[in-house]
Amino acid sequence: PTVFLNGEFLPHDQARVSVMDRGFLFGDGVYEVIPAYGGHLFRLQPHLQRLDNSLQAVRIPNPYTEPQWQGILEELVGENAGTDQSVYLQVTRGVMERRDHAFPADLKPTVFAMSNPIPEPDPALAEHGITAISLDDIRWQSCHIKAITLLPNVLLRQQAVEAGAAEAILLRDGEATEGAASNLFIVRDGLLITPPKGPLLLPGITRDLVIELAARHGIPYREGAISEAELRGADEVWLTSSTKEIMPVTTLDGVPVGDGRPGPLYRQMHGIYREYKQAVREG
Ligand code: PMP
Repeated sequence: PTVFLNGEFLPHDQARVSVMDRGFLFGDGVYEVIPAYGGHLFRLQPHLQRLDNSLQAVRIPNPYTEPQWQGILEELVGENAGTDQSVYLQVTRGVMERRDHAFPADLKPTVFAMSNPIPEPDPALAEHGITAISLDDIRWQSCHIKAITLLPNVLLRQQAVEAGAAEAILLRDGEATEGAASNLFIVRDGLLITPPKGPLLLPGITRDLVIELAARHGIPYREGAISEAELRGADEVWLTSSTKEIMPVTTLDGVPVGDGRPGPLYRQMHGIYREYKQAVREG
């Protein structure tokens, strides 16, 4: 497959990055993951806006304008036309001459992007839901930045996998914030609730889309903190992400959520989401 590296499209096995790249040595960079359906990049503008926000937050100059990004990503997606894809892009602070935490002036960011086929979500997921465990949030205080420095997320996800769970739901100071790689919603008495944006969670593009679709379809929702007790007492628990879409959590820490099956509001939102995605796919 073809990848993009620093202005060039080339076969992935010919793409090379220096060992002095600050992404490699420090995890000094940010990234995005953007699905493409039927060759159409899904929610591209908000993803590029979040990329720009992440870059500004870590003081890396944005190497491209929005139209330039769009051109690069569309060309990559065009290489694998015919399948649903997920585009990964990352920008690091660049290659330094000697290892030094402080950033040298005049670094040129390293820009990498690739696109890979993704399958349709497994229908069994909508039918039975997933298992999650709760874990203490061991990450930093700037989780709104989509940094490539993912060691805590890696360790949390691995702990979930070893516990036979698909995802970890993170708790900080008695509140549930998000998943290790997804955002959190609960349903209580017909009301959809998700934690407000802030430094302790990633402002998910799928999260925003679910809120937008709820508003459009008259589903009552509220942005508000979710206590650990509210999480455990919820009628429904969902996790959202660009590649996994909306996942109903039916078992949390070995205990059934609600009646242990995907709930009615999930089924409604899942249908609305699927329609929206299909409309994008058909252009
Ligand atoms: N939170 C975290 C920590 C994530 O890694 C992700 C996935 N990138 C999300 C939430 C979901 O964000 P999005 O809907 O933009 O994919």
